[in-house]
Amino acid sequence: MTIRHHLSNPLLMAYAAGNLSEAFGLVVATHISLCDECRARLETFEAVGGAVVDSADTVAMADGSLESVLARLGPQDAAPAPRKRGFFPAPLADYVGGDLAAVHWRPLGMGVRQAILPTARGASARLLYIPAGQAVPDHGHRGTELTLVLQGAFRDESDRFGVGDVEIATEDLEHTPVAEAGMDCICLAATDAPLRFRAMLPRLLQPIFRI
Ligand SMILES: [Zn+2]
Repeated sequence: MTIRHHLSNPLLMAYAAGNLSEAFGLVVATHISLCDECRARLETFEAVGGAVVDSADTVAMADGSLESVLARLGPQDAAPAPRKRGFFPAPLADYVGGDLAAVHWRPLGMGVRQAILPTARGASARLLYIPAGQAVPDHGHRGTELTLVLQGAFRDESDRFGVGDVEIATEDLEHTPVAEAGMDCICLAATDAPLRFRAMLPRLLQPIFRI
């Protein structure tokens, strides 16, 4: 897997600071699980955060805090056995509740399917299934859309995105993603505002599909 499209520094910084919504954090964590380069950059930002914590003034906790925490910890559990890795990278597998066969797809038309993942309000995360050669209706963005490819590849006006690549689409991008021929494309996408569709039918369907 050669990853060519990476996370931006602002996204990695926000993730390190714990400031991302759950949906965006899920895309970032899943990309990092696939990408050594972004994991290394994240560690740099986390080191900066650690230095800030180290240099901050300390605030004393109540008497007996240490003893009460130690008492609650009890005997240490053994380290959990590594989970069997299926189709989904680790951070995502927890949300799907199983492998690819466990996904509850809902049809969006023309063979395109989605599955909305359970995340906190404020931004939404979904899996997208785009049959090989099929286009997603062209759309713009009111906010930011992160799309991480898990299988296959898609192209849009800006570039080609293969497995592990993440596309960061903002308000100035209007695009029509098309799945490459040869293999169905599966993506993880997060949005923090409804998409803007040019065509009438997708606009009418938006409230139903929550896109
Ligand atoms: Zn990366």
